[in-house]
Amino acid sequence: MRLSRLPLNTLKEVPADAELISHQLMLRAGMIRKLASGLYTWLPMGLRVLRKIEQVVREEMNRAGAFELLMPSVQPAELWQESGRWSEYGPELLRFKDRHQREFCYGPTHEEVITDIARRELKSYRHLPVNYYQIQTKFRDEIRPRYGVMRAREFIMKDAYSFHLDQESLDAGYQAMFDAYSKIFTRLGLRFRTVQADSGAIGGNASQEFHVLADSGEDTIVFSNGDDYAANLEMAEALPPAAGKKKPGGDMRFVDTPDIRSIDELCSFLDTDPSGCIKTLLVDAEDDGLVALVLRGDHELNARKAEKMPGVREPLTMAAADKVKEVVGCEPGFIGPVDLPCPLFVDHSAAAVVDFVCGANQKDQHRVNGNWGRDLPDCASVDLRNVVDGDPSPTGKGTLSVVRGIEVGHIFKLGDKYSSSMNAQVLDANGQTQTLIMGCYGIGITRITAAAIEQNHDRRGIVWPPAMAPFDVALIPINQHKSDRVRDAADQLYEELNAMGLQVLVDDRNARPGVKFADMDLIGIPHRVVVAEKGLDGGSFEYKNRRDDEPRHLSIDELKDLLRSSQTET
Ligand code: ATP
Ligand code: MG
Repeated sequence: MRLSRLPLNTLKEVPADAELISHQLMLRAGMIRKLASGLYTWLPMGLRVLRKIEQVVREEMNRAGAFELLMPSVQPAELWQESGRWSEYGPELLRFKDRHQREFCYGPTHEEVITDIARRELKSYRHLPVNYYQIQTKFRDEIRPRYGVMRAREFIMKDAYSFHLDQESLDAGYQAMFDAYSKIFTRLGLRFRTVQADSGAIGGNASQEFHVLADSGEDTIVFSNGDDYAANLEMAEALPPAAGKKKPGGDMRFVDTPDIRSIDELCSFLDTDPSGCIKTLLVDAEDDGLVALVLRGDHELNARKAEKMPGVREPLTMAAADKVKEVVGCEPGFIGPVDLPCPLFVDHSAAAVVDFVCGANQKDQHRVNGNWGRDLPDCASVDLRNVVDGDPSPTGKGTLSVVRGIEVGHIFKLGDKYSSSMNAQVLDANGQTQTLIMGCYGIGITRITAAAIEQNHDRRGIVWPPAMAPFDVALIPINQHKSDRVRDAADQLYEELNAMGLQVLVDDRNARPGVKFADMDLIGIPHRVVVAEKGLDGGSFEYKNRRDDEPRHLSIDELKDLLRSSQTET
């Protein structure tokens, strides 16, 4: 492609409303433009990257035996009523009516539509197993669209759905998708991890997420250095502390703590450590009362774990201040487990603290030297907290690290959630009707571009992993408008590189070399070749890899060899 023909507007300044580096660089490199909140146009430079990603995804899905189809983005309400999700799905589902007042939604996902296809197309066990996929536009009316295409409202997903007669076949189909996803993210050149996930609103009984590792990631993931254990923070189990309990010290007593409400304030006031404190969080119970969740002062509550405790209301809701006053007779900030008039769940680590500091259930008062079994009944402890760096792995092997990740893929075993409610059945080998069982598998195509940039950039701009770069080579003729020799050499090299199957962007704009270099670095093309009078005199081209700081001079043969070997790598 000749850049002189493409209206490319790169930006020198960092756009004011873009927080994340990937969002800034995508705008600056002229890849995307915002239309409205969470809606983006993919300009030619950006679209080329999307197409590259789609290509890798298609190849690996096809190789895994899946079949591509294309479903409508607009879906009739009836299907969603059949599955029960018309009422379950919240305001993320964009609903509207057509001119006949019939209700529709813009698909945030396609389980209903594909299950409708399955019940009509799949008649016999002979059709099974089968996996259908599409690469298609979704809409989710996200409460907080942000970070550009990372969390957009309209985005492109690859979604796949597999149908099986039995669990064994589902297990095999799921494993095939796991393997295909691993190949896809490896080929794309991303550093990623697979983690156990919560199957959430879609339902089902097993699920894993693929995360691109990046400090800016919205998700927190956990992995062990002792084996391949990895999980979403929500799911990672915290083991009870191993060390034996110390003996209690002096008697429990009250201390005045005027206006001291937070653990931090308390610790600096009493000159103690948060790990010696107990914090007591009151949440709404399923009945009208409250439930207390007790944690060590330096630990964080894990909402998913708390919701699983009997009697705790889902979704987890912190108790309102007046409710706390009504039940405990004291305002929040001074709550503690001693003589607390509501059921208590105590985290393993909190149950192991000796001589603890805690709220006294009286305004401006705390207790010190509290001890389980002495000052209040010992209780069976439970897992309520988020794991932290250095915790032992729940497998018993190694310790955990907590890092940030960006969810780019998600695979689920759905079971019969949709096929049961929507009556998707086939005849088995004995002529009996059997309900299909399903798996579903998503990849955030548009999100991958942003995730890749979060992981691969420097102060000059994007550093694309070669497999998803918009072009392989940036060819920069210097002063070509003055030198026929440079122009001819650049044209010839352009043809030759194209003939090798390389995608070449020639920067034939009438611009200063510095401007061209800066733009090509910003856009992040892996290889840069400069054609200039001086080099031509010596029979060489100036070559620079996007990851290098200094260029080097190569003969035409050396240059071609280098580019050819980079082709076989991707
Ligand atoms: P998240 O937890 O990030 O909201 P999700 O778990 O709701 O995502 P899935 O239903 O698992 O998303 O969708 C499959 C994939 O689609 C996700 O792994 C993610 O890569 C992508 N995706 C989901 N929501 C968005 C969005 N708002 N913008 C861009 N990509 C998205
Ligand atoms: Mg997900």
